[in-house]
Amino acid sequence: MLKPALLFILALVTTFNLHAAQQPYKRTLKLMGSRFDITVVADNEAQGEAYIDWAVGEITRIEKLISSWDPNSQTSAINANAGKKPVKVDRELIELIQRAIAISKLTDGAFDISYASMDKIWKFDGSMTAMPDAQTIASSVEKVGFQNIVIDSKASTVFLKKEGMKIGFGAIGKGYAADKAKQLLIEKGVSAGIINASGDMNTWGKQTNGNPWKVAITNPLDKNKVFALLPIVNSAVVTSGDYEKYVTFNGTRYAHIIDPRTGYPATGIISATVFAPKAELADALATSVFVMGIEVGLNRINQLPGIECIIVDDQGNIHKSDHIEIEKP
Ligand code: ADP
Ligand code: MG
Repeated sequence: MLKPALLFILALVTTFNLHAAQQPYKRTLKLMGSRFDITVVADNEAQGEAYIDWAVGEITRIEKLISSWDPNSQTSAINANAGKKPVKVDRELIELIQRAIAISKLTDGAFDISYASMDKIWKFDGSMTAMPDAQTIASSVEKVGFQNIVIDSKASTVFLKKEGMKIGFGAIGKGYAADKAKQLLIEKGVSAGIINASGDMNTWGKQTNGNPWKVAITNPLDKNKVFALLPIVNSAVVTSGDYEKYVTFNGTRYAHIIDPRTGYPATGIISATVFAPKAELADALATSVFVMGIEVGLNRINQLPGIECIIVDDQGNIHKSDHIEIEKP
């Protein structure tokens, strides 16, 4: 018979060995039109690859549901029937749209999935020589308005009231997919990982050395300089940035994210980073902060418990929400 003390030592050794064997495994691939880096902690390569396959399967499933490019998606069916009739869709899509509408209300319409019907009158490839006129700008957003998305929860239908109206999940879909992939892997018993969707990071567990995952925040005006290194413990961080796509008129820099209420591009901010428990909310709020601007954006974020934000303005100045602690790298 083994003595209790020996048993205890054996147990320790086993735990230690298990830990020692755990390694991070990573795959980079294109999903939802973006680069995804999926990292999982696993005992061996075969297990790591199997975990990653599950995540990829989940993200692909969601892409099929919410893509407005795929003519066979339920989202495309909603858009095709705008102004005509309600469309029956999966509960999952109803709930995503309901949460998107809640974020529209929270941001006074700065965030709006019906932005997708905006006429594309702004070009950010250097080809624009003059501002569009006020009338053209105003009419570009005529069909935008989350108030005209009608949900019948009981019948599980969505109806866009205006003909030509469209919804799109460009500012929330990647975050949602990352949350769902993370949730699935946690349910499967994966102890730690990162879903990184083109810089939208969603983490759980810890690194194999026991340290929390960390995210480096850079100033888009000087990308080589990391100005903050922040731990992300079972949460998400998402950055919206326009540093490649913008246009300048009369000394004002206009970002490629457009205010769906006015039709004018956002100004003043070159990147907005949001920390939140879920990637979906972080994703949506990062885009919202861009549209709301520094003052309103920070104000709104400061009212939301557990959510923080770092903004870099077009002069390179850093603004942060009340409770964020910037740790110098
Ligand atoms: P990134 O391109 O870095 O993912 P965002 O997360 O900010 O940037 O998402 C920008 C995308 O969100 C746009 O390409 C468009 O699809 C969508 N979008 C733009 N403006 C809005 C808005 N006001 N509300 C909701 N979605 C928007
Ligand atoms: Mg976003």
